[in-house]
Amino acid sequence: MITIPERIILANLPTKIEKLERISAQLQGPSIYIKRDDQTGTELSGNKIRKLEYCIREAIDQGCDTLITCGGIQSNHCRATAAAAAKLGLKAIVVLRGHDPDTYEGNLLLDHLLGAEVRWISSEDYRDHRMDIMHTIADEVSAKGQQAYVIPEGASSGIGAFGYFSALQEIVQQEQELGISFDAVIVAVGSGGTHGGLLLAQQLLPTSHRIIGINVCDDEDYFIKAITTVIEESAHYLDQSVTIPTEAIEIIDGYVGKGYAQSQPQELQCIKDLASLEGVILDPVYTGKAFYGLVEEIRKGTFQDLQNILFIHTGGLYGLFPHSASFEF
Ligand SMILES: *Cc1c(COP(=O)(O)O)cnc(C)c1O
Repeated sequence: MITIPERIILANLPTKIEKLERISAQLQGPSIYIKRDDQTGTELSGNKIRKLEYCIREAIDQGCDTLITCGGIQSNHCRATAAAAAKLGLKAIVVLRGHDPDTYEGNLLLDHLLGAEVRWISSEDYRDHRMDIMHTIADEVSAKGQQAYVIPEGASSGIGAFGYFSALQEIVQQEQELGISFDAVIVAVGSGGTHGGLLLAQQLLPTSHRIIGINVCDDEDYFIKAITTVIEESAHYLDQSVTIPTEAIEIIDGYVGKGYAQSQPQELQCIKDLASLEGVILDPVYTGKAFYGLVEEIRKGTFQDLQNILFIHTGGLYGLFPHSASFEF
């Protein structure tokens, strides 16, 4: 048995696994199942809370009372951090990329409602200096006699990845209960911690699922490096060494489309199709692109040897509404 770090319990777990009957029949490929990590909570909804359970436990163990993190203007991760902080009586400072807009919607509205302190930095500073900027804010916090814990983008740190290590353990348990085995687990990749955690578990537990990521920004090379780094960091928390062969990191690149948080008509159509066919709402930034990628790959025959595929719905619902004008009806 592997001992992993302790977590603080915040998410509604285990999340349900449902079969997507009609879309599977329509595509005539493998049976597609969906794991509802969009239902980890309401305020806490999505994949980030699984990772935050481990990060925040570490923060509390270190005696911290302030969480600092960063993300895009509609960051699901910043909103989940703000919600977790409010729930635990901690302070959250979220550093967002861009400019303070006139009206607040989606996750940004929630960041404010949840009492997070919101700070804005330029795209260039975000790209090149976000960690330094957060550490400078942490120094500011400690000068006031408080203690801050810095959570990197997406909580995709070594400790955060344990959220998806335990998610794969949860999936293995559910396979036994449901009497199904999944050949592959498919997930959207944005900062890599979700994929990294799943892969760490796949390597260390007696399971053999393929873990397949569909990136929604950057490219395959970028994520092979990012995921390797996350896993190396996670290994420091374990009493065993971990080496992930590069070929185990399966990224299907080609579905970034117009770029991060920018949609193409076919991706939006895929969101509409799944919603009306199955009653499941995806988001345009992550799950909509990844699910569109999955459907296209099934159409191309990429997964013809597989029987059962599990797609993890990583959340993002609040980020849908600011995109309402992109949809045509
Ligand atoms: C952050 C996010 C992802 C990507 O997870 P990473 O661990 O950052 O790769 C996928 N879906 C949603 C809805 C997200 O908010």
